[in-house]
Amino acid sequence: MRRPTPFCYVVLAGFIGSASLFAQSSQTAAPQAAQQPPLRPPTRADILRGEYGRYRANNDLLFYHLKVRVDPEKKAISGSNTIRFQMLKDDTRIQLDLFANLSVDRITFGTSELKYSRELNTVFVDFPDTLKAGRKYEIEFSYSGTPTESGRFGGFTFGKDASGKPWIYTACEGQGASSWWPNKDQWRDEPAEMKISIAIPSDLTDVSNGRFLGKTDLGDGFTRWDWHVQYPINNYSVSLNVGNYVHFEDRLRDLPLDFYVLPGNLEKAKAQFAQAKPMIEAYQHFFGEYPFRKDGYKLIEVPYTGMEHQSAVTYGNGFENGYGRRDWTGVGVSLKFDFIIIHESGHEWFGNAVSAADVSDMWIHEGWTTYLENLYVEHRFGYDDALKYVNGYKTKVQNRQPIITQRGIHRTPPQDMYFKGALFLHTLRSVVDDDPKWWKVLRDVFDEFKYRNILTEDMLRFFNAKLGRDLTPIFDQYLRRTDLPVLELAFNEKEHSVAYRWRADERNFNMPIRVGERGKWQTIQPTTDWQVMPLTLTKDTFEVATDLYFVNVVKQ
Ligand SMILES: [Zn+2]
Repeated sequence: MRRPTPFCYVVLAGFIGSASLFAQSSQTAAPQAAQQPPLRPPTRADILRGEYGRYRANNDLLFYHLKVRVDPEKKAISGSNTIRFQMLKDDTRIQLDLFANLSVDRITFGTSELKYSRELNTVFVDFPDTLKAGRKYEIEFSYSGTPTESGRFGGFTFGKDASGKPWIYTACEGQGASSWWPNKDQWRDEPAEMKISIAIPSDLTDVSNGRFLGKTDLGDGFTRWDWHVQYPINNYSVSLNVGNYVHFEDRLRDLPLDFYVLPGNLEKAKAQFAQAKPMIEAYQHFFGEYPFRKDGYKLIEVPYTGMEHQSAVTYGNGFENGYGRRDWTGVGVSLKFDFIIIHESGHEWFGNAVSAADVSDMWIHEGWTTYLENLYVEHRFGYDDALKYVNGYKTKVQNRQPIITQRGIHRTPPQDMYFKGALFLHTLRSVVDDDPKWWKVLRDVFDEFKYRNILTEDMLRFFNAKLGRDLTPIFDQYLRRTDLPVLELAFNEKEHSVAYRWRADERNFNMPIRVGERGKWQTIQPTTDWQVMPLTLTKDTFEVATDLYFVNVVKQ
């Protein structure tokens, strides 16, 4: 990796190396997680970015047209965003965002220039007359400057490839899209469609999101590349990738697949990117048609590990299987596929099509997509591999903070949203204990929420309705509490009985679980109150199906 930064992962320091960890004794409780120091208090900037306040909630985005000229020599950008929105309430002000290090050149509304005030990375735009609820308005926000390279993925990077040609790219999920272009930088509201026009030196190629419309020679050594995004899109997904790319293409029935790599990697890419088709087919098997069909699917080489930019997934995994050439989950499955192609593209379904409405609920992107990897493994390589693979994630779980963080504060949730999130969904499958029903509910969740921005509450409500049971305590324990539920087993071998209950933070926690003898499991329905069952096995031979449920077990 030229850039040691992990792709969309938060912290991946705790890399696992031992396959034997999968086989760790299921009968002993994992040590309680060390107490995490309290999170730092939010800053004013975290609240300005995270809060869906009055001046955001008073309008609904309809359309963006982002026009940017990128000058590699000066390391500068300039351009504008046309922002079309519908007012939901009468008001005279809206909130937009643009990082403080970039200049606001002017904001116009028709022929008049609007007043604005800046606070940190926020721009409050004021209108001379009241904008009326229900009406549509359009403003043009012009800006310029040099965006700073920052964050885990680079933010906006003026780089060079090995041959010295410019290689300029964006990846700004953490710090925010307003680090390089003006927009309503939050998670709840997305424009229904978008145009992206990027002007760059004529010997380079720009790949952005959506369908390629064409390029126009501007006559001054620059060429403009125009793209049309025909679906709602997250701000952070909006991207440019400018480089000395070569292009090759393929099709999956009527879905165009477009690939962009540096010339020296063309042959390697043709071999490795063949994995895109079975990947899409696997996800289509579970969730139906690829959600951005009109925009097509693209894979674009970048010098960082990768990012799920909608319909324009970036790739930097060295054209090799595994993740960074490693057996990612340490259980002998990861090297069968290219982790970045499978994970980042999985976000087309969860993250890009189904999106969280607040960064607090980002597990809807990362927990689900990590679980999608597992679905891919099951579809391609079989159930046994999938079971191994998902259990391989256990060693990455920290249990130091709840997965869902406080609403309204811009802060990336802890890493557990990936692995614990996926293991939570794996556990839910065992709770449902009826695979056809489970596949159906997964498909229904996707169909219900695609192209929408939702909170965990929406998903929980849907699960409860579809399955006809109240999963609230299970969702809350796994997503809103730090510790795993603990199955306490108290053996009385003399009396041939075993008492059992859940120890959990959720007072009403109740979850069925399979226990007894492997292969002849018996499902019990523990609650947080003790119950007793007859014991035909011994304390030592009595097992719990901890490969099907992510729980701790204490025997006494
Ligand atoms: Zn991800």
